[in-house]
Amino acid sequence: MANRRSCSACGDKRGMARFENERFTIEHAGLRKTVDGLSGWRCGACDEVVFDPESARLYAAAGDELLLQSRKREQKELKRIRQKLDLTQQAAAEITGGGHNAFSRYERGTAQPLPAVMNLFRILDRHPELLREILPRRVRKRGGTASATTRSTQARRRTVRSAGSQKIPL
Ligand SMILES: [Zn+2]
Repeated sequence: MANRRSCSACGDKRGMARFENERFTIEHAGLRKTVDGLSGWRCGACDEVVFDPESARLYAAAGDELLLQSRKREQKELKRIRQKLDLTQQAAAEITGGGHNAFSRYERGTAQPLPAVMNLFRILDRHPELLREILPRRVRKRGGTASATTRSTQARRRTVRSAGSQKIPL
């Protein structure tokens, strides 16, 4: 039959069926994009799709655009969180690795942060107090603010300890 061809993915004997002018939705990192008017072949057994050349080009272009969109969003997000945490690009790179220029490259979009970097910054966005646990001493802010923060942390720790020890008779 001229209108059928065997599936390259599963080799199903019923072959692939023709489809014309369909809408496809591409999803990436919570973003979605629809592409209309796509044609090609679909396997009835495994749903594998082989687009016609022009449709393949349109689909790939939409995918690229979506990827670019999500990278731009990541760049802005990373910069926003870094500024909220009051970190310089150098200090941010120091706690995540990747070289001292890493954050400048992430925020300009010339390099892509590892998922581990995005995940860490998203956690710090929601729990900025955790930054104290991982910040190297020399990156910490100098002057009154830093020592005040340290002192209040120590005070809080002492309070917790003494609250616990009240149960033990002296
Ligand atoms: Zn198949």
